[in-house]
Amino acid sequence: MSKRRAFLQQLAVLFPAIPLLKLTQVDYQPNKRPISIATWDSGLAVNDKAWEILNTGGKAIDAVEKGANSIENTINCCVGLGGNPDRDGYVTLDACIMDENHNCGSVAFLESIRNPISVARKIMENTPHVMLVGEGAKKFALANDFEDAGHELSPTAQSEYQHWLKSSKYQPEINIEQRQSQKTKVPQKLKDGSFNHDTMGIIAMDAGGDLSGACTTSGMGFKMRGRVGDSPIIGAGLFVDNEVGAATSSGQGEEVIRICGTHTVVEMMRLGKSPEEACKIAIERIIKINPEKAKTFQVGFLALNKRGEYGAYAIQPGFSYAVKDGDDPGSVYPSKSYFD
Ligand code: ASP
Repeated sequence: MSKRRAFLQQLAVLFPAIPLLKLTQVDYQPNKRPISIATWDSGLAVNDKAWEILNTGGKAIDAVEKGANSIENTINCCVGLGGNPDRDGYVTLDACIMDENHNCGSVAFLESIRNPISVARKIMENTPHVMLVGEGAKKFALANDFEDAGHELSPTAQSEYQHWLKSSKYQPEINIEQRQSQKTKVPQKLKDGSFNHDTMGIIAMDAGGDLSGACTTSGMGFKMRGRVGDSPIIGAGLFVDNEVGAATSSGQGEEVIRICGTHTVVEMMRLGKSPEEACKIAIERIIKINPEKAKTFQVGFLALNKRGEYGAYAIQPGFSYAVKDGDDPGSVYPSKSYFD
């Protein structure tokens, strides 16, 4: 017998029960209580809409769609057809939705259709695909009775675009969505009556303990034509695993895509991290890639676990989220952040 073989045999005798190293997964016992959480101050109104469904025993998937639709139908900088256009002057929409059974649907680079989240849901339910983009997504929407709402910019977007054209420089702004509320520390209405905000991510649990999520945006204003961010990408802008939890993101999509952001957050919760800790680990992973560059952009993650616990973490201060459940009639919380 060779010396090496003898040595291995001795080891086997001495340590017969060394288990294989195994990651410990938490077995989440669902706390079956309706709860809705959504990004930014504007998540307050979105949660209210979702609550109409959650509070009457409805499904989380219907609640998140309804919540997302409500903000798509208002005029604001960053969601729906009233949002800021790309650098060629066209609004292009990205959105995705995911339910408790890993069903998911997504649209990207969709033009002239008012409710991208509902188109995404139709793709999820009525096609063998997950994602449709551009012309094909629009064709699908029109064939499914969505109206062509045209290309006209909202008055706010038109004036922002004219202003942008003067310098024509693509420079994503950190927390553009909170620009006004930062000064006053309370949500501020724009002149048109809407709240200024960013990508809307909403995740919810229904009375049956099932989770779903939706994410909808017009993306970074003045982006290159054809640019798609994280928001329509399952595992980047949104991820739901009904055994563990759900997460969504807002901020500079390119950086979220690089680390499969929301999938990372959910996997960290699977290993037992709290929602806030899980979001923090994903944020630190982004920062580690390029700490200097990370000082110049914002990313925020928001997460909910199967027990109904929630939390958030961002790179920069200024990210906020709204919560509504049986105990909380609707509050906005500031997220912790890596930089002060
Ligand atoms: N995440 C979105 C995108 O990259 C935009 C944002 O939330 O600011 O398109």
